[in-house]
Amino acid sequence: MSRTASLPRDLPSTPFVDGAFAPAAGGGETLVSPWTGRPLAQVVMAGAAESEAAIGAARRAFDATDWPHLPPADRGAILHRIAAGILARADDFAAVEALNGGKPVSGAMREVEGAARVFTYYAGAMDKVFGDTIPLGRDLLDFTLREPLGVVAQIVPWNFPLLGASWKLAPALAAGCTAILKPAPLTPLSALLLAEVCRAAGVPNGVVNILPGGADVGRILAEDPRIDGISFTGSTAVGAEVMRLAATSIKRVALELGGKNAAVVFADADIAKAAASAVASGFGNAGQSCSARSRLLVERAAIPAFSAAFAAAAEKLRTGEPLDPGTSLGPLISAGHREAVDRSVTLARDAGAKLVTGGAMPAGDGFFYPPTILGEVGPDNPAFRTEMFGPVCSITPFETEAEAIALANDSEYGLNGSVWSRDIGRALRVARGVRTGMVAVNGLPSASKTSVFAPFGGYKRSGIGRELGLSALDFYCEIKNVVVDLT
Ligand code: NAD
Repeated sequence: MSRTASLPRDLPSTPFVDGAFAPAAGGGETLVSPWTGRPLAQVVMAGAAESEAAIGAARRAFDATDWPHLPPADRGAILHRIAAGILARADDFAAVEALNGGKPVSGAMREVEGAARVFTYYAGAMDKVFGDTIPLGRDLLDFTLREPLGVVAQIVPWNFPLLGASWKLAPALAAGCTAILKPAPLTPLSALLLAEVCRAAGVPNGVVNILPGGADVGRILAEDPRIDGISFTGSTAVGAEVMRLAATSIKRVALELGGKNAAVVFADADIAKAAASAVASGFGNAGQSCSARSRLLVERAAIPAFSAAFAAAAEKLRTGEPLDPGTSLGPLISAGHREAVDRSVTLARDAGAKLVTGGAMPAGDGFFYPPTILGEVGPDNPAFRTEMFGPVCSITPFETEAEAIALANDSEYGLNGSVWSRDIGRALRVARGVRTGMVAVNGLPSASKTSVFAPFGGYKRSGIGRELGLSALDFYCEIKNVVVDLT
């Protein structure tokens, strides 16, 4: 195999609107392989005309078809077929995610399986979510109905293209919404392939629309008053802009934004397990994960043992061929992103961080960066605060439980975290003390294994709302109160 391994043949490469792919009129934007820096494929991006057509189609499918009124189990049957369709083309999806997204194929395959699990979960969810009856005395009957929100726009970033699209589309379809999904312009291929799977699974025309495109399309979707809600995953700065644009039409907004997550490691923890988990969390997907725990807060007495175990495990990661199951570290998404990560490392070192391992941009093709660990990073160091979104972790010492909690909370973000200690009372006190949407005690599944059953999302500037689990359905449903006078 070679780093120029090619994509599956006949992949769709144009916007998908109202049940059809736009004709390829030639040309389009060139996608670059992160493994080689060379051209990989051409995709026709959507613009204002395709956005207008998609909004119109999604509106019609919601307002003038049976889709929102189907028995939930009927929509569920379609979702089951989407899950089966993903698995039937698992090798194609994994190759696309590997080659377009810069992921080693083993991780890409776990994401494909995870995407199918999400559709299966929501296939069976919607007939178990219903309203309440509210006691108002003998003369009144009051109950609530859960109704679909309407037309939703969904914007996803490049780091988990298929998984991100699935987390958004599956609950929206289960709830009876119609959707316009915008993948990131660097990684649109798996969402377009998913459109093909949706069509084959019997999703009616206009219910799912996929618009590969950039910020211009994102702004149109955030602003358009015909869209009832927007679910955005991406950076905190763009999330704030989406919220501003959505405000004009009082659109419902869900935001999954950045993170600068802490792992709190006490000296009595299983240090080998904590170090292995730090590698999986900090360097999985080359660190390009919102929930990467890039701040290792370590009790001072454990710093030598933890640093040695962490560095040794990090140095075992191997780059190689994208489709080789033995490859465990892929490149960063783009040349520009790699340069930004390298600049952040330089800034951190200039501010006093000590290099434990990594830190040097390798020569050769592709946008690779080595797993990098920075030691002696205090709260004043930029590495303590900046979400680098690359394979860079920092180690910060603490002395007491109270100091560990204060350091963990010393961030504008509040997405994820973990605590490691054999003293379960202490571990749970810390878990309660940190202001994050998620926290793991003595272990955490990798991002691709994140439980589909549990809510995913953040406090503070990490976002608003929750994806996954039944919580995700809160965004995609309106609640109608019906009161009946029985007299
Ligand atoms: P980004 O904010 O630059 O882009 C995200 C998406 O928004 C892309 O599809 C992009 O085309 C679109 N976009 C860009 N400008 C826009 C605008 N003005 N209006 C509307 N849409 C616009 O983020 P990125 O660099 O692609 O992704 C990395 C960021 O995503 C990180 O901050 C990471 O933490 C975050 N992220 C968060 C989660 C989560 O669940 N909390 C998951 C993955 C990534």
